[in-house]
Amino acid sequence: MSSPLHDDTALRATPVAFDNSYVRLPPQFFADQAPTPVTAPQLIKFNEALARELGLDVEALRQNAAAIFSGNELLPGSQPIAMAYAGHQFGNFVPQLGDGRAILLGEVKDGNGGRRDIQLKGSGPTPFSRRGDGRAALGPVLREYVVSEAMHALGIPTTRALAAVITGEPVYREEVLPGAIFTRVAASHIRVGTFQFFAARGDTESVRVLADHVIARHYPEIRDRENPYLSLLEAVADRQAALIARWLHVGFIHGVMNTDNMTVSGETIDFGPCAFMDTYDPATVFSSIDRNGRYAYANQPAIGQWNLARLGETLIPLIDPSVDTAIELANVIIKAYGERFQAYWLSGMRAKIGLTNEEDGDLELIQSLLATMQQQEADFTLTFRRLAALAADEDVTDFAATFNDPQAAAPWLERWRERLARDPQTPAARTAAMRKVNPAFIPRNHRIEQAIEAAVDDGDFSLFEALLKVLATPYEDQPAFAPYGEPPLPAERVLQTFCGT
Ligand code: AMP
Ligand code: MG
Repeated sequence: MSSPLHDDTALRATPVAFDNSYVRLPPQFFADQAPTPVTAPQLIKFNEALARELGLDVEALRQNAAAIFSGNELLPGSQPIAMAYAGHQFGNFVPQLGDGRAILLGEVKDGNGGRRDIQLKGSGPTPFSRRGDGRAALGPVLREYVVSEAMHALGIPTTRALAAVITGEPVYREEVLPGAIFTRVAASHIRVGTFQFFAARGDTESVRVLADHVIARHYPEIRDRENPYLSLLEAVADRQAALIARWLHVGFIHGVMNTDNMTVSGETIDFGPCAFMDTYDPATVFSSIDRNGRYAYANQPAIGQWNLARLGETLIPLIDPSVDTAIELANVIIKAYGERFQAYWLSGMRAKIGLTNEEDGDLELIQSLLATMQQQEADFTLTFRRLAALAADEDVTDFAATFNDPQAAAPWLERWRERLARDPQTPAARTAAMRKVNPAFIPRNHRIEQAIEAAVDDGDFSLFEALLKVLATPYEDQPAFAPYGEPPLPAERVLQTFCGT
């Protein structure tokens, strides 16, 4: 029943209560650009739970989902734009990139005091498209959907998936592929590269406007600090240190940590050739374009620091009138990032092996396990998940089986048990706590590839749906999905991933 005090029909007329702040920034920040309509859009998936969380009118969106999430129908209040940004791609600076195939529809207030962007990806050309077609292929759209939602369920800051549609139009890559559009939700789409765009043009005033916008939007607590722009660098460094540590804890390899793919909000963004590691090897690289391993698993913390230094450079004129002083101040923060990262990483690794208190030897104990895992080609995820069981159980059979030589980890287990004896948790509590930080399920690469193949070749989305289901609760055992917890068979192994752009 509708209340006589409210005009519910009027509310329903705007399924998304847009409140756009980025379009109020100066015109050089973006280009007005509407999505290009597609011929035969069909809905693949609409994330109703996320829509509800954002306060959207789920019923209204559901009725018209294919038209809305393909960009064929523009919702009232949407002010579509393509954002300008630059970026270092594999270390080389490109002064103008920008949203070449993404269109920001607008922002909504999420009910937690935050703003969230709603963006279409693959929605047609923009003034930033360069030679690209502005479109996305179905495979990469499904990959981003699965992996971003899996990251969220793992508890890792990330952009989210609101919807995916098929366009009914082909896209031309190395082969002809079905086109698709992905609807992404982000705390914002502002990147390190957004700052670089203006800094590269010597436009300090725009850098200041952008920094003020970012502080108001993501870091309101630093607005009144003595040196808010230095505090901004520190805040981003802290979020990135925490984020990249979380990636390492679950074996995630982003694959393209270019400065245009690093948010200032601290969310994971741009799931291109990203992948999760099966067998533990710190040098693991999947991306076909990362020939030198710049973005290998274990390089990610250092690349984070390199990217933060690029952000720091853009802020130099704002930090202090003396360039030397500004550089000195920024450098302290860039250096401290290393310690912050190490602290986040170590604290997470302690939790992974079931420790709640701290001892000096913990780092060495953790490194020793990792070294054995690498040498013995152990599956990263299974090793830690099975170790959780051992916190309250003597039977080492399953754990030992993850190592080539089942005896190889026995000396380490002995040291681990000695260390556990000096930690106050009960075995039952320890196992429970370890299971909350050591997932049973990650989006294994071969499963993603299988799901994509079924969808692209046969229009069969059942594997995609199954993946979404199992990965929604990655810390639960879910016996019905047991095979999804297993590493690939040798023939199933996927060694390379592609951007698909
Ligand atoms: P990415 O590798 O996805 O981070 O993209 C790097 C840059 O290339 C961004 O500016 C994208 O907007 C642009 N881009 C990627 N794919 C396309 C495409 N198919 N059409 C136009 N621009 C694209
Ligand atoms: Mg990108």
